[in-house]
Formats: sequence, structure tokens, C-alpha cells
Amino acid sequence: MSVKELPFSKSLIEKIIEEYPTPFHVYDERGIRENAKRLLKAFSWAPGFMEFFAVKATPNPYIMKICRDEGFGADCSSLPELILAERTGITGEKIMFSSNNTPPEEYIKAREFGAVINLDDITHIPFLEKTTGLPDVLSFRYNPGPLRKGNVIIGKPEEAKYGFTREQLSEGYRIIRDMGVKRFGLHAMVASNELDPEYFIETARMLFEVVSEISRELGIQFEFINLGGGFGIPYRPGQKPIDIDFISKGIEGVYHIIIKNGGFHPLKIFIESGRMITGPYGFLVSKVLHKKNIYKKYIGLDASMANLMRPALYGAYHHITVLGKENLPASGIYDVTGSLCENNDKFAIDRELPEMDTGDIMVIHDTGAHGHAMGFNYNGKLRSAEILLREDGSYTCIRRAETVDDYFATLDFTDLHRA
Ligand SMILES: *Cc1c(COP(=O)(O)O)cnc(C)c1O
Repeated sequence: MSVKELPFSKSLIEKIIEEYPTPFHVYDERGIRENAKRLLKAFSWAPGFMEFFAVKATPNPYIMKICRDEGFGADCSSLPELILAERTGITGEKIMFSSNNTPPEEYIKAREFGAVINLDDITHIPFLEKTTGLPDVLSFRYNPGPLRKGNVIIGKPEEAKYGFTREQLSEGYRIIRDMGVKRFGLHAMVASNELDPEYFIETARMLFEVVSEISRELGIQFEFINLGGGFGIPYRPGQKPIDIDFISKGIEGVYHIIIKNGGFHPLKIFIESGRMITGPYGFLVSKVLHKKNIYKKYIGLDASMANLMRPALYGAYHHITVLGKENLPASGIYDVTGSLCENNDKFAIDRELPEMDTGDIMVIHDTGAHGHAMGFNYNGKLRSAEILLREDGSYTCIRRAETVDDYFATLDFTDLHRA
């Protein structure tokens, strides 16, 4: 059972607010590091195990630097993400480039950095060959279609835009083998925010089976499989965190049977997790601006869905703590809203919370992944700051809040007034 604890005190947050007004996201360095170490320990049996942190989850170089320190690589899917990885000091084959519908300049940059390229479609073999020539290592993303169930965030595999069909995999590896590619990888990601550990063991089994089939069929040796991301976190207080030791042991068992006994050892195991790495270690801090009672009771925050889109986008649950009121009874039922002119701009609907006052500080939990990163400027909303709580108890602003000038930075008003 997961208890929704906070890694900081109310007084520390009040001190930070004096310097950096709300709203902002705050990240817990200690939590990220301890979790990273647990993950690597769990997979210490696996030859060449590697986590490529999914940059899109928290594209901030300070967070990525923590990941790099812990031995992680970076999973990128766009040009700016590649540049972020490189500028954080994550280079070469510590970058996994898992993109889709990829423009040529992104392949060019990925090749320039020596990243491992994971192709999303069979037509990208000639596209990449024409753009940069083929590298000596290539990976393909597998979409198992109706063979696997997906989930609500990623959808059913047969309706998902990603990956190769099973037939295309055989065809694709044969083509690249004949074109001189020497090192082969296989990737799949068919779930998102999945909390069932069996799911990942089954994905590994599926990939191991494909590896053994194609190795036999084409006489090639696979170097790695990449299980993708999609490891879930307990957003709700009653949910259990995913048991990574259980997943690892389960995968080890299947590895033994299919890979070791099949004669395909060693095969490296990669993952490209984002949410599980930083999600639980980020918090959106916001103040209550207004209370409003009409047909329902509303609490209006100074944050909006521009700072955290998940509740509006997927109806996702994010736990809310009112600082200093943790032990008061949840005596009211509220919708917790932002200020966007969109009625789905709500962090919570019909949430039981303690009696609240304007000026109260609300902490929205589990915003460390796909939180600030999904921010946007619709309705003239400015993106918030990001603060890193250091292991020694100090804190650093790792991204300042946007200003109105930032919002206008891509506009030039001069011609407007010339006539
Ligand atoms: C989004 C994504 C990830 C990370 O997903 P999480 O749910 O954050 O673990 C990894 N790989 C690919 C290809 C993705 O699109």
C-alpha cells in the first residue's frame, strides 16, 4: 500500500515560495537517486542491462544529469531531445533514438551523435539509407497487433500507429542483414502506466521468442532487446508500486529458458522508462486563489492544466495534499480547477478535501514525469519554474518561470506599427 508522503516540510516550501512564486514543480533528488539504484540492483543479473531515461518525461538537463550520474542513458525522439542528451553529456550509444514518423534531420543528428537508432517502420530502412547510410547497429520496434492487449493511455496495439508487424520484422532484418548491418536490436512498447508486473515479463517473453525465431530464420545474432517504457506508478493512495524485483526475477526465468537454453546468450536487456524514474519524485506546488460556491464547490488554483495536463487529458488521478491540513478531516467535496477558459481545466473532480482557505498551499503529487513537460501556452498561460530539492536539503531553480517576454519571443511587433 502506498502512502502519499511528502519529501519536504511546509516551512521549506514557504521559504521556496518567497523566492519563487507559485506555481512550480519541485523534484526530489534523493528519491530519484534511491529509486535508480533499486532499479539497477534489481537487474544486476542481466548482461549489459541499461535504462535509457525517456527524456520526454522530464526534459530538464539537471534531472537528466542525475540520471546520467546513476548510469542511465537517454531515450530521445526528437531533435531537441537529442541535443538535450548531448548537452547533458549523454552521448554515443548511451542515446537510444526511438522516434516515429521521423524527419530526415533527426536521423542525421542521431547518426552524428552515434546514437542507437530504433526504427518504427519498414519504409524507414530505405529512408535512413538514403539520408545517412545505414549504421552498423539497428533496432526495430515491434507492434504485436492483436496478440497483445494494450491499455487506456496507449490504446490497443492493432490500433496503435507504432512499429512493424511480425512479418515486416523478418523481412526488415533480412534486408538490413543483406545491406551489411552487423548488430541487431528488437524493441516493443505496448503499454503505458502499467502496474501489472506480469505484463513486462510477458513482453520480455514475447521479445525473446521473436529473437529466437528470427535468429534461427536469418542466422543473425541479436545484441539487445528493449522493453520500452510504460512501467506504472501508484498515482492513487491505495495502489501498490510496481514490484521491480518480481519483474526482474520473472524476466530472468524466461531468459534462462528461451535465451540461455536456446543458445542466444548473451542478450542485453534495455528499458526506456520515464514515468517510473521521476514520476513519484515531482510535485506541483500551487496556491488557492479563490473559492467559489455555485451548483458545485470549486477551489481555484494559481496553476492550471497548462502546468499539468494529465487529469484533463486522460482523466488521470493525481493525489492532492493541502499543506498543514494533512490531519484535518476531509469534510468537503470540491472540484479543484485552474483558470483556463476550458471546463476540463480541473486537477480533481468531486475530491474530498479538508475545509480550505484562500492562500492555502496545495501540493499535487506525482508530477515528476509527463508533468511540466506536457505544458503549453494556450490561453496565454505561462509555463512554471522547476525547482530541484538537493540531497543536502538545499534547493536550486533548474528552470525559471516563463515571462510575458518569453511568450512574445517568437513575435516581432515592429512591422505592425510601421504603416
Ligand atoms: C513515452 C515513451 C517512453 C517512456 O514511457 P513511460 O511511460 O514514461 O515509461 C519510452 N519509450 C517510448 C518509445 C515512448 O514513446
